[in-house]
Amino acid sequence: MKLDITKGIQKKGVDIAFDLVDSWGEDRWNGDTIAYIRPVSFSGTYMLADETVIVRGTARALIQSPCARCLEPAQTAVCAQVEEAFVRDKGDGTPVEEDQYTYTGHVLELDDAVRTALLLELPSRILCKEDCRGLCARCGANLNVNECSCQKDLPARNPFSALASLLNEDEEV
Ligand SMILES: [Zn+2]
Ligand SMILES: [Zn+2]
Repeated sequence: MKLDITKGIQKKGVDIAFDLVDSWGEDRWNGDTIAYIRPVSFSGTYMLADETVIVRGTARALIQSPCARCLEPAQTAVCAQVEEAFVRDKGDGTPVEEDQYTYTGHVLELDDAVRTALLLELPSRILCKEDCRGLCARCGANLNVNECSCQKDLPARNPFSALASLLNEDEEV
């Protein structure tokens, strides 16, 4: 995602609107492969303060990742506010802080800043649906699709059911 700042260089100190769209492929997040299944959009304004470019905008993406419970594809729409400064890399060896975004010439490369902001907005667990029932811990069946027989085989763990059967026996006497 590249931003041409030629206009801003000609009009320093003035907010200039931009509206960018870019198609991204796959990415890694929390040990999973995620995919940007719609073009990522980023719109806002930028301004040159001396040679530093201040970029402010809103990024939007639709991300697909495996559901944290059942591993089926799950989709999440994310929206992130981005506000970053890009300093000009003069290319003459002037040191720049390590985590500082830089640019050369007339073009800013925004991918890192936008990606970082979007991934920060992702929930810690992405689910296919709020009440996803996940996989059976014994047979691995997807419990959203069908009930496996493992649950029925399990002896009743509820102490009250044992008590209830005792009471029933008493009644029979
Ligand atoms: Zn799920
Ligand atoms: Zn099962």
